[in-house]
Amino acid sequence: MLKSLARIIKTGIITEKSIFPDLNPENRGLPSINKKAWDEIGKERDKSWVELCPTGAIDILQRDTTAELTLDLGRCIACGLCPDISPDGVIEKNLSSQTSVNRRQDLVLSTRESEKQKNYSKPPENIFKRSIAVRVVSTGCSACDLEINAAFNPIFDLERFGVQLVASPRLADILMVTGPVADGMKKAVLRTFEAMPEPRKVIAVGTCAISGGIHGQNNYASTGGIDSILPVDAYVPGCPPHPWSIIHSVLNVMNNR
Ligand code: SF4
Ligand code: SF4
Repeated sequence: MLKSLARIIKTGIITEKSIFPDLNPENRGLPSINKKAWDEIGKERDKSWVELCPTGAIDILQRDTTAELTLDLGRCIACGLCPDISPDGVIEKNLSSQTSVNRRQDLVLSTRESEKQKNYSKPPENIFKRSIAVRVVSTGCSACDLEINAAFNPIFDLERFGVQLVASPRLADILMVTGPVADGMKKAVLRTFEAMPEPRKVIAVGTCAISGGIHGQNNYASTGGIDSILPVDAYVPGCPPHPWSIIHSVLNVMNNR
């Protein structure tokens, strides 16, 4: 805060010049797999630390002579536990803010494909030009919505890319959904999507919208992620995701990274 104030006083400008900087080290970021460390203990069979993940996002699959470690960022609520408790640093913090992907499966990291996290899916064809409108439907705890709001504030300034929030789905090109698909909100989400003109895109913002997150994938009141009822074009992991990551997903969908 003080740094920001000093910058405003000095330059009169608050908007960040560079986009997608790495997060500050005090942030938890998202976890990632350290393949080198895993290779050194590749026959590790102790799963006790894995079972401490509150959403079951980590798994160890036993293969003939080796073991495969998987980490599903689409289920991770970024509690920050696993980098501290994993043996020999096999899970580490990832402070990149460029975390959105176009395909759900690209959120599942594995020791068999250690670089997957960096292989962001290619954006789809450029169907939008420089100006698009976003409608948000919130079915979650609202923290993701606060980060979406932050993405539009003068610091991150998503509007500089020609992106605006709109109140009516009739004006929207992109539907952002936050939160799990609660039964009570399913109809509202579907009606919002149906009211949007084509071409239209859907972004799942946050772990709840991707997989149900802490609420689980299927329970008496919800059916988990938004892709269980709508086609999703970008996924932004995190609980909640950082504003830069949300901006990354919008530019990703706009084919403008
Ligand atoms: S940071 Fe994510 S993967 Fe690690 S323990 Fe927490 S929820 Fe599980
Ligand atoms: S992902 Fe986290 S912050 Fe976002 S709606 Fe779910 S619980 Fe809230």
